[in-house]
Amino acid sequence: METSKFIWMDGAMVPWEDATVHVLTHALHYGTGVFEGIRAYETPDGTAIFRLPEHMARLHRSAKAYGIPLAHPVEVLIEAARQIIKINELEAGYIRPLAFHELGAIGLNPAAATVKTIIAAWRWGTYLGDEGVAKGIRVRVSSWRRIHQSSFVPIAKGTGQYLNSVMAKQEAVATGYDEALLLNMDGNISEGSGENLFLVRDGVLLTPPIASGILDGITRASVVQLLSDEGVTVREATLTRGDLYAADELFLTGTAAEVTPIREVDDRPVGKGEPGPVTRRAQDLFAQAVTGKLPAYRSWLTYV
Ligand code: PMP
Repeated sequence: METSKFIWMDGAMVPWEDATVHVLTHALHYGTGVFEGIRAYETPDGTAIFRLPEHMARLHRSAKAYGIPLAHPVEVLIEAARQIIKINELEAGYIRPLAFHELGAIGLNPAAATVKTIIAAWRWGTYLGDEGVAKGIRVRVSSWRRIHQSSFVPIAKGTGQYLNSVMAKQEAVATGYDEALLLNMDGNISEGSGENLFLVRDGVLLTPPIASGILDGITRASVVQLLSDEGVTVREATLTRGDLYAADELFLTGTAAEVTPIREVDDRPVGKGEPGPVTRRAQDLFAQAVTGKLPAYRSWLTYV
């Protein structure tokens, strides 16, 4: 990965190489942290961060879900994210806020452990490759099931819960695919290892509901709004593995992945085996919205 110069740590700008933690950090042992992934884009009016307040609000919701007391209100985190882009002289990039239990407890109860909050930022290109964005990626249904709401909070971004995503991603890549799709414990489709899923059938756009155990993605919400404002019918629907095989189009959405077409699922071509018109429209509208070219969605941008 690319590095940058500074990382924001509880209000201080710390040189990248000095932004370290102790090996007895509670979160290292038990996954007691929450995080976000945010992107900043170059726009004609300068660098802008996409849906920054929504991301910081989700960080707070994640922390509340897992009982991690955050020291900084949303407004402070928003300003810190702007500053970390500025000080690192990034015209575009990826922003990673993380809050975690640090020192003071080594048993499971983190109540006595301090909480540290950091925000890092660096340049980061396409997550699933330029070719993937252009031609679509190959995915497989994972042998691992998505974490269930009876054991975790799937709509939170808790660090510990990501071992589930890591195993699915490792398996997909080790077996020759670009990405994994996870079924939930009911056997229905949830999402990718780090992306939400969309399916097009007969011109209608379908995506699994929150109750399928997904993360309530901010890119997902943006794509739903962009396409429904265009007159496309968008519906939340419980989807099965068979629905994937019958789909005309499939694509993934996420801050890192943006809008990435799927050209093959479980070795079966999706539609004609190339990105379809609704996917292309979603990619195009999303790219224009994040770069400030759609006045109607300017409120989604926080200028640096
Ligand atoms: N699902 C999972 C499991 C994720 O980690 C992510 C990335 N945050 C997403 C979906 C997409 O969410 P967003 O569009 O908010 O980045």
